[in-house]
Amino acid sequence: MVKALNNNVTKNLQRTGIRRFNELVAKVPGAIKLTVGEIDLPTPANTKLRGINAITENVTKYTPNAGDLELRTTISEYLAAHYHLNYSAKDEIIVTVGGSEAIDTSFRTILEPEDEIIIPAPCFPGYLGSGILSQSKIILVDTSSSDFKLTPEQLENSITDATKLVVLNYPNNPTGSILTTEELEALAKIIIKHDLYVLTDEMYATLVYDGIDIAPSIAAIDGMKERTIIVNGVSKSSSMTGWRVGYIATSAAIVEQALKVHQYAVASPASMAQKAAITALTTDFPETQKMAALFEHRRDVLVSYLSKLDLKFNRPVGAFYCFLDISEFGMDSWSFAEKMLYDYKLAVVPGNSFSEYGDNYVRLSFAVDEKIIVEAMKRLTAGVTELR
Ligand code: PLP
Repeated sequence: MVKALNNNVTKNLQRTGIRRFNELVAKVPGAIKLTVGEIDLPTPANTKLRGINAITENVTKYTPNAGDLELRTTISEYLAAHYHLNYSAKDEIIVTVGGSEAIDTSFRTILEPEDEIIIPAPCFPGYLGSGILSQSKIILVDTSSSDFKLTPEQLENSITDATKLVVLNYPNNPTGSILTTEELEALAKIIIKHDLYVLTDEMYATLVYDGIDIAPSIAAIDGMKERTIIVNGVSKSSSMTGWRVGYIATSAAIVEQALKVHQYAVASPASMAQKAAITALTTDFPETQKMAALFEHRRDVLVSYLSKLDLKFNRPVGAFYCFLDISEFGMDSWSFAEKMLYDYKLAVVPGNSFSEYGDNYVRLSFAVDEKIIVEAMKRLTAGVTELR
C-alpha cells in the first residue's frame, strides 16, 4: 500500500472544461467541431524547413536557459519593429515552452501566497490553473457587461492592498475582444497609481481584423514597460502549436528571478524548434497577415449566420473565437453544449470552461474551413429552432 496522495493544492486543480468536453466529443462519430483552439493550416513551409535543417545540422543539444541567443535577438527586433519597444536580447527576454509556460513561470515568479491577482473573466483557463498553483488569491472580474473588456472602473473596484498582478489578454480567448490604445492608457493610469505588475498575454496579437495590423500592447505606454510582462509566442500567429515556443519579455529584474523558475521547470524549449521560430518571426509576418485575412472572411461568414438567426454574440475583432450568448434558452452552457453535441452533432465549448462568468455562453471557433462553418451553422439553426 502506498500512502494516499493528499496534496491540497493539486486537489483544487480541475482538468479544463475544454479537455473534459472534448472527451465527450470524441465519442460522437460525425460530430462537427467548432471547439478547436489552433489554426487548421500547416506551419508555413519555410519555418518547417528551418526546423528540419536544424536537426540535420545537429542543433540537437541544450540551448542557454534563456533560449537560443539568435532567437532572443529576433524577438527583440520583432518587438522593436512592431511596437517600438526596446528589450535587450541578453537580459530582458526568456524563450519558454509555449505561452503556457510563459504564464506559469511569470505567475510563480511574481506571486506569493496571499497576493491577489486580478483576472478579467471569462478567461483562458491557463490563468486559473497557474493561479491555483501559485497559491495566490484569484480575483475574477466579470467583464460580460462591458463587451468583455476590462474597464477602468472594474479594475479600480477590484484592487486591494494585496493586489500584485493584473492579467490582460487582448485579443481575448474566448471572446475575441480587443482593447484600443486609449482603453489601455486608461487602465495603465490605474496600474501605475497602485504600483501593480501586469501580465499581457498577446498570443493572438497578429490575428486581428477590421483594418487593424497588430493589437496594441500596454507595454508601449509610458511608465508601463518596467512593470509589464509580455507573454507571446508562435503557437497561434504562425500555426506552430506543436513546436512549443513562446516567450516572456520584461525587465531585467524580473527576468533574473524568472530564469530560475524556468531553469528548474524546463531548462529550455527544444533547440530545433527555437531555430524554426526564428524563421517564423523574421519572415512570417506576411504569412500571418494572409492568415488573418482568411480568418476575417471566416469570421464574417460565421457572424452573418448568427445575425440571421437573431442570436446575441460578441463580434470578434481578434483571435478566432466567437462567444455566443445562450441565455435566451434557459440552459447552462454545459447542458446547451451537450444538447448540440448529442442531438445535432455540433461540438462547441461550454462557456463555463472559462470560469463561472462564461456560463451563459458557448465558444465557437472559426479556425476551421468555411465549408465546416456552413455545415455547423445548419446544425445550429436546427438546434436553435427546436429550443425556441
Ligand atoms: N494564452 C492564450 C490566451 C491562449 O489561448 C493559449 C492557447 O490556447 C495560450 C496562452 C497557450 O499557448 P501555447 O500553446 O503557446 O502554450
